[in-house]
Amino acid sequence: MSPNSEPISAEELRRFIDLMNPCIDDCLYVYDIQNDYYYISPHATQRYAIPQNGFHNVVETLASFVYPPDMELLSDDIRQLIEGVKDYHNLEYRWLSKTGDPIWINCRGRIVRQGERDLYLVGCINEIGVRQKADNVSGLLSVSSFRRNLEKNYYRGMKGYLLRIGIDDFREINAKMGFEYGDQILRQVADCLSSYIAPENRLYRLVADEFVISHIYGSTAQDALDLYRRLRRGMDDLVEDNLYETVFTISGGILPFDQIDDPSFSNVTKLSEFTLNMAKQMGKNRCYIFSASDYEQFLRRQDLTTALRWSVNHGFQGFEVHYQPLIHTGSQKLYGAEALMRFHAEPFGNVPPSEIVPLLEESGLIIPVGRHILNQALKACADILPVLPDFHMSVNVSYIQVIKSDFVNDVMQAVSACGLDPSHVILELTESGKLESDSRFTRLWTRLKDKGIRLALDDFGTGYSNFHYLNDLQPHIIKIDRSFTSQSLTNEYDYHLLSLMRGMAQKLHLNFCIEGVENLDELERLLPLNPDYCQGYHFGRPCPYEQFVANFLPG
Ligand code: C2E
Ligand code: CA
Ligand code: CA
Repeated sequence: MSPNSEPISAEELRRFIDLMNPCIDDCLYVYDIQNDYYYISPHATQRYAIPQNGFHNVVETLASFVYPPDMELLSDDIRQLIEGVKDYHNLEYRWLSKTGDPIWINCRGRIVRQGERDLYLVGCINEIGVRQKADNVSGLLSVSSFRRNLEKNYYRGMKGYLLRIGIDDFREINAKMGFEYGDQILRQVADCLSSYIAPENRLYRLVADEFVISHIYGSTAQDALDLYRRLRRGMDDLVEDNLYETVFTISGGILPFDQIDDPSFSNVTKLSEFTLNMAKQMGKNRCYIFSASDYEQFLRRQDLTTALRWSVNHGFQGFEVHYQPLIHTGSQKLYGAEALMRFHAEPFGNVPPSEIVPLLEESGLIIPVGRHILNQALKACADILPVLPDFHMSVNVSYIQVIKSDFVNDVMQAVSACGLDPSHVILELTESGKLESDSRFTRLWTRLKDKGIRLALDDFGTGYSNFHYLNDLQPHIIKIDRSFTSQSLTNEYDYHLLSLMRGMAQKLHLNFCIEGVENLDELERLLPLNPDYCQGYHFGRPCPYEQFVANFLPG
């Protein structure tokens, strides 16, 4: 502005900002320093935690929506502008979104002065994260365009779908072939996807190896599935054209618009991410169509995990250990007990370990929880031993616990803290899907055996690689799961298999324990197999410690 020209009035600047509001994503602002009044593009209030788009008490009001750790930096900059130390403002810092999340912005502005009097700071704010409208690697529109398209065209109850496509194990392609090669594959995939998209559809690149196709013109989930199948064939051709240098597949998640209650961008992206994750969890190279009940289950798992984490951080509230008798079959006397975890939390009620354990394993919480159960169980064992000197306590242990914590030390510490002889402790390795008898695991397992702990392989007969574990892990005991026991009671072939297993255990000098004996009739049919130990409702159900002591310990 030339020094002689009339300064533009605050009113004019505000009118200009209003005029530009529908035309740009960035936010324009004017800060009238003398009157301590700030005015910003009205659409800023939809995105950020700004009380209104025009306000007095500027520094104080800014403090309500600037990310607190950045406020000092900003105040300092404003002070320098007011004191005339500098005329330009160019600062990258964070504002809070309406949902309270910090968002990086770049705020630029210049002081408009007249004579010695400061008039205004005028400028523009844009988000650093979404500055790119297009993605230069794939040549596609990026997530900010997707957002705009959605916000502009979406209406409740509309037909159409989002098909989210992810390249399976893309990280491995990058790791094996390098990033440049990875980028080349991304470009080829983007081209391939583009060539299958009808002109009225839109294709965006969302994150690294994920794309989304938005089809808003009345089509159904079945149409989306057909499209996915065509795309998959297209990828097969691409792999072939590349002479099988890398072989990869794509997964797809379909979100039909009429299944969405809350059409906000954040909700829609969350749901579509869920659909793709489901496809990947189901084994990749496949497509999943959104189902509200699956999503509810997923949310339940998330809420349960939160409840579990809360409990771990609050003295394991809600966790309890129940004990089920283990019977020595020959003498029909109590040999010991198996400690079984129980969990109760509102609003879920009692949640069985079959639901809890996988969540604990996924979240890593199995480590503190497993340690807690172990400590409780060993303490119970120490309390029982003076009454029953031959008592044994069996504790379930997950593969994750062994491999991801200082497990051997934890066990030995618990054993010595309770003053126990290690031979009274049995650790049962539960066969989760994650069990792999790698060399590190085998070493840890062997160290426990060397310390005198007895080891059991749980759920024998239900997995598929048990024989291989027998050789690697050389347990003292194998436990036959209830599912196998009950099958063998109704099916002659399975009974024969069970008796062969029993014979094998004998040859290998392994103790044999049959679980899930529910009544006398079952026991009588299983006794000819001469198992070393039995367990099941027939002898007693899992119960709290006091009840166990009352029911199974001598007077
Ligand atoms: P598991 O180790 O095979 O434990 C035996 C399961 O069979 C227990 O289920 C027990 O209540 C049940 N059961 C015992 N006798 C009978 C019977 O006669 N009939 C029938 N139908 N069932 C019987 P629960 O307590 O629900 O535990 C399920 C699984 O959760 C356990 O199977 C184990 O794999 C896992 N688990 C339990 N507690 C822990 C723990 O502290 N840590 C770990 N890692 N896993 C645990
Ligand atoms: Ca067990
Ligand atoms: Ca079992």
